[in-house]
Amino acid sequence: MLPSIFQRPLSDLSRVGERISTLLKKLDLTTQEDLLYHFPVRYEDFRNTSTLDSVPINRDITVQGTVSVIANKTTFRRRMTVTEALIEDASSSLRVIWYNQPYLTKTLLVGDHISLSGQVIQDKYGLYMRSPQYEKIHTDAPTTHTGRLVPIYASTAGVTQKQIRFLVKQVLELTRYIEEWLPPTTLREHKLLPLAAALTAIHFPPDSKTLAAAQKRLHFDEMFTIQLGVLNYQKFLQSEPALNIPFAQAAVQNFVKTLPFTLTGDQKKSAWQIIRDCSSSKPMNRLLEGDVGSGKTVVAAIAAYNCVLAGHQVALMSPTEILAQQTFAAFQKLLPEGVRLALLTGSVKHDISDADIVVGTHALIQDNVKFRSLGLVIIDEQHRFGVVQRKALKEKAGTAHVPHLLSMTATPIPRSLALTVYGNLEVSIIREKPALRKPVITRLVTAAQRGEAYDFVRRQIVGGRQAMVICPLVEESDALGIKAVTEEQKKLQSEIFPEFTVGLLHGRLRPRDKAKIMHAFSGGKIHILVATSVVEVGIDIPNATVIMIEAADRFGLAQLHQFRGRVGRAEHQSYCLLFPDASGRHNKRLEAMLATNDGFALAEKDLRIRGSGSMYGLEQSGFADISATLLTDIALINQTREAARRLLHDDPGLAGFPHIKKRLTEWQESFHVE
Ligand code: ADP
Ligand code: MG
Repeated sequence: MLPSIFQRPLSDLSRVGERISTLLKKLDLTTQEDLLYHFPVRYEDFRNTSTLDSVPINRDITVQGTVSVIANKTTFRRRMTVTEALIEDASSSLRVIWYNQPYLTKTLLVGDHISLSGQVIQDKYGLYMRSPQYEKIHTDAPTTHTGRLVPIYASTAGVTQKQIRFLVKQVLELTRYIEEWLPPTTLREHKLLPLAAALTAIHFPPDSKTLAAAQKRLHFDEMFTIQLGVLNYQKFLQSEPALNIPFAQAAVQNFVKTLPFTLTGDQKKSAWQIIRDCSSSKPMNRLLEGDVGSGKTVVAAIAAYNCVLAGHQVALMSPTEILAQQTFAAFQKLLPEGVRLALLTGSVKHDISDADIVVGTHALIQDNVKFRSLGLVIIDEQHRFGVVQRKALKEKAGTAHVPHLLSMTATPIPRSLALTVYGNLEVSIIREKPALRKPVITRLVTAAQRGEAYDFVRRQIVGGRQAMVICPLVEESDALGIKAVTEEQKKLQSEIFPEFTVGLLHGRLRPRDKAKIMHAFSGGKIHILVATSVVEVGIDIPNATVIMIEAADRFGLAQLHQFRGRVGRAEHQSYCLLFPDASGRHNKRLEAMLATNDGFALAEKDLRIRGSGSMYGLEQSGFADISATLLTDIALINQTREAARRLLHDDPGLAGFPHIKKRLTEWQESFHVE
């Protein structure tokens, strides 16, 4: 969509050496386009200005003045460098203090004209500005870091906000090369900002109104692309028949009898709905919704088995390698002998040509994968796959048919949304929990009770059980939370539980190492597993009975509930221990967690807590990169759907809109990369 200059690497920009390049890569930023679309996570409002004689205290404010004194001091007691400066304007002067930034005396010199944003504090020596943002003022150039709506970006250790802003500014120089891709009529009709203007304003908004207009334009782009994709997909579904997979009633019923447990009513009903859909030559498009631990895997296994009995293959796609391995193991345990299973992930490859069921990750849709006769595709915990992946899988299906599609999720998606965003999607719901499952006991643990909680965990482990610890991302610079878990693991291993083995799991580990750790944990060799919140949803270790969630108040309700679902998966009584940050004791989400174990009830509470602008469970839904506001903005969904419909009606092949066509293709391809 953007001209090719935006594909240049970030290292082409001024002041990007190898070190910064590597760090930016950690944030998934390699090209200039990546940076252009690395939107601020928020803005600091430093638009209020004041002269030095009337600065308000304890409020975000911007002042300007000339440096008349600046010097470093070292406080011996606290071993800290303090930079103290005095700035003056026509009205008065003001003291400014920075801590541990001794280089400031080299950057800001006496006589420099500077702009400072921050708060003014009153102490016993009078007023002073504490650690403000600063920049030198150049005549007629607008300020970047102070005195405006200042963008704050997701970053990583070693890359400062100032650096990111400096780089973004360079990329924004190129926006004049951007060609508009939306049809002029659409722009006019919906009063949309031109793309170049929107991209500039989202990074450096001149005012709130323009910021809102920029957000509107960029949301429109995103949803318009989704709608084009969905409409295209519907057309595709309507035009292609699926395999007619008959219900092998006797064999399936026999199989169900061999299961180590009795199915719940909802499980039976869902399995039946799926099997019925598959027996039609209309391609199935069904979502199986069920709370964590409600037993979706076995339902998938039943549907898969029925498909295999008809001589067709099944592909089951998981969002991560760990989950793929786990589902593979679960299928091995559940399915009758004779069903040939294969695992296919980035790091493990089996020959799949004579497999009946292939469990895997995105690797399943890679170019060299070919099925013999693919009848059913099951996608776990990532519905975004569904829309386009089936097309890709059709090419590999080995038949002239579109495979049936089943998506599974623990996220209760409102039906209206399911219909608008996914087109004609059918929904099966598992509400009942398997019998004999004891509800997880959830407790809030205060700082004073921490030792007691650890003793409790110790007794559980001595009794043969296992525990997990989830840590949040503590700082913006630790985007993957690796620092937090690594420190927690060290502390628990050396100070709290030296007698046990404490393991560590995070997203940076190689797939092979992750698998090893999971293997050790499920084999009981690791007693306590410390994990980041980012990666490990969905893991199934029935022997784990305690999950401890650090700084629990920082997590969303859907996430907390997902974590809790990691325990209580077998007959043992299980526990979820929430450790709030000192300030977060009375957090509404934690109260909701204490009040109920029911994911659907929590979803409703969450909507009430957050208001309708936001949606429960997006983190797990595969929509994490699309903002919640976007998905619940029904007006936007309708507008973009209408615009997309009209465009496809007037020009079905998009021949007159090569930009749009390209963008649609890119969007579809974006599903293929992890
Ligand atoms: P999820 O819906 O979160 O994917 P799983 O399918 O992993 O849940 O099931 C959670 C656990 O419950 C598994 O260990 C599974 O064997 C078990 N399970 C599933 N259905 C039943 C049932 N009807 N009765 C007892 N246990 C069940
Ligand atoms: Mg599951």
